Amino acid sequence: MSESAEIYSFALQLPVYHCFDYKLSPEIDARPGQRYLLPFAQGYKLGLLISKVTHSEVTPGSLKAVEQCLDEEPLLSAHLLKLAQWIADYYCQPIGEVIFLMIPRYCRQQHVLNATEVLWWRANPEIDINLEQLKHRAPRQFQIMTALMDATQGLNASQLKQIHSHWHQQVKALQKKGWVQSHWMENLPVNDQALEKGPELTSQQVQVSNAILPQMKKFGVQVIQGVTGSGKTEIYMQLMQYILEGDQQVIYLVPEIGLTPQLIDRIRRRLGSGIVSTHSGQTDFQRYQSWDQCKRGVARVLIGTRSALFSEAPNLGLIIVYEEHDMSFRQQDGVRYHARDVAIKRAQMLDIPVILGSATPSIDTLYNLGRPHYHLHELPQRPNQTQPPTIERVDCKHTPLNTGCSPRLLQAIERHLNNHGQVLLFLNRRGYAPVIMCYECGWQAECHQCDARLTLHQSVNKLICHHCGYQQVVPTACPECGKNEIQHLGVGTQQLEAFLKQRFTRFQTIRIDRDSVKSATEIEHRLAPVAAGEPCILVGTQMLAKGHDYPNITLVGILDADQALFSSFYRAPERLVQTVLQVSGRAGRANKPGEALLQTAFPSHPLIQGLCHASYRELAEGILKERQLLNFPPYSRVVTFLADAIDLDSAMQRLRKLVDPIQRCSVNAELSIVGPIPALMTRRVGRYRAQLSILAVNFQTIRHMLREIMPVIVADKNTVKSRVVIEVDPQEL
Ligand code: ADP
Ligand code: ZN
Ligand code: ZN
Repeated sequence: MSESAEIYSFALQLPVYHCFDYKLSPEIDARPGQRYLLPFAQGYKLGLLISKVTHSEVTPGSLKAVEQCLDEEPLLSAHLLKLAQWIADYYCQPIGEVIFLMIPRYCRQQHVLNATEVLWWRANPEIDINLEQLKHRAPRQFQIMTALMDATQGLNASQLKQIHSHWHQQVKALQKKGWVQSHWMENLPVNDQALEKGPELTSQQVQVSNAILPQMKKFGVQVIQGVTGSGKTEIYMQLMQYILEGDQQVIYLVPEIGLTPQLIDRIRRRLGSGIVSTHSGQTDFQRYQSWDQCKRGVARVLIGTRSALFSEAPNLGLIIVYEEHDMSFRQQDGVRYHARDVAIKRAQMLDIPVILGSATPSIDTLYNLGRPHYHLHELPQRPNQTQPPTIERVDCKHTPLNTGCSPRLLQAIERHLNNHGQVLLFLNRRGYAPVIMCYECGWQAECHQCDARLTLHQSVNKLICHHCGYQQVVPTACPECGKNEIQHLGVGTQQLEAFLKQRFTRFQTIRIDRDSVKSATEIEHRLAPVAAGEPCILVGTQMLAKGHDYPNITLVGILDADQALFSSFYRAPERLVQTVLQVSGRAGRANKPGEALLQTAFPSHPLIQGLCHASYRELAEGILKERQLLNFPPYSRVVTFLADAIDLDSAMQRLRKLVDPIQRCSVNAELSIVGPIPALMTRRVGRYRAQLSILAVNFQTIRHMLREIMPVIVADKNTVKSRVVIEVDPQEL
């Protein structure tokens, strides 16, 4: 390489906090955001060009030269590179991991990217085609040629494959004759039906939409709080329509499994073509295709889970966060970030609005309402004037339960089914039974890799760890004392389902949890009888509380909310309140009044009483007051250092080294230091875990501390023996 080679820094997909410098020949048209093949260690690695370097720390002799540029067009724009840098700085995450999180998995491999348009073939209109001759001499070609002549738009590969498995050879032969032509076409979902008109908005909806519309040209966080079924989505439709009319694009973020075909369909019917989606049920190429269409500006709306937020959209005009309180917006492994908060940052950088909608806005969002740029809009009523049901307590302290159900709940189920209603039972515990033990000696089945009990899954006759996936066959005799006294305790969704099927034989019982369904499409399929309105029982976990609209549900039963009352997690009350209101809000959505029963052994617990008598806002104010008393977030800010190691001592040791430098940053004791302590589940997947949390009222104090501590973290390299990761604004302490 010539003397005039320039130096550039590249982000590599590695858990390190810095970029890598390489030399690049000036003949290459280097642009930030392109992928390059870089010599690394003994082999090659993919790197994304970040910027030109004027002064490198690396001695010029040891700078390696870049091998190959893979992209003409950058994958990430200057705007997204800036956002990546912000995420890396704010959340203290390795820059390379952030960058590679932002590009689709398909682009993380060392290959040149294929176009996402698809090839179409059609009959050449300018040539007289002698079909008769083909019919006898080449019947396969004849078959394909007739199909192509019938299809005015032509046919693509998957359509041709349905006609003949060896279509490719036949088409090639026809192309040689000049009878068939090929051309590239955008593979976008097309809606050729007339656009559906939405319902006429109620005066409340009009009021909200009129308040937001004049603010659509600038940054603002528009919080829409409206009970389930109050017509929030109709307002999003209006706002999207406005954006699309101005030739701008929308990113619509939904929680995991909240992305239902039902929702995509509804948006397509209303807004027309160019609505694409991205979610974990798709192949890498499909996800890349949506991303690429959005990047080229041909997709108008991108609906997707968390990572959809990182799609390039040259004309982005609006970001919607649907069910903004949902926990799945926080990524808990790999790059630790909160998609809602990054959405707000991205909107601010682009000076566009972001909508946060929910029936139960997060406590953080409610707290933030006091900040500039935040605006609250409320929809207290449903369009048809029905109200979500009031929640009634069922005292289970002195009542024997039958497979988790009280007599009152069982009677109610019977009554609602006989009245042609549907029943939803919420139990956030999958499997058959959560505890397996020996009644003779007290032995319990535990995971040998985690500090956790194994759950009985009777259908496969296995004990499974829900934290690491470890499985074993159910022992017939106790491994400790050898007696045949093994019993199970507690009720999971599988047991509840089996019990209900036996008890209510005339009605269908449908179970929805992670064991029974893997994707939103599968949920939809399972829920067909529910959608058809037949009387039936739905049993499920958290999955049931999201996205779906079940108009015929009249009874909701919440089987066990008590664990949350005594949880050591400070966000447990918030989660409980949100879950109970979201689940009970599923009852009585059409013209049938609903009933919601909450089983508890602690009916006089203030939170349980509150759920039955107070509104979400009142409950949220109570939670905020409590947090303020304890100085917990959002009244303070937190950063947690998490260590995992081959033994607990190494994990604790690793964190102890941080305490002194942190203390030095706390001149006037502005920082409260909690730990290091073993994590609540100390052993997980064979690793020992400890944590050190730092709280401060002022976030700048935390930032200052992080700046001081980062060199210490970077110097103490992560190894298999022990490693440390940082979590800014963690969900728990
Ligand atoms: P949310 O998003 O708040 O849960 P949706 O927008 O999904 O509420 O509305 C719930 C139901 O009410 C949907 O079936 C929707 O079609 C209907 N709906 C919404 N707004 C109106 C309206 N103004 N008039 C009649 N029906 C409406
Ligand atoms: Zn025993
Ligand atoms: Zn385990």
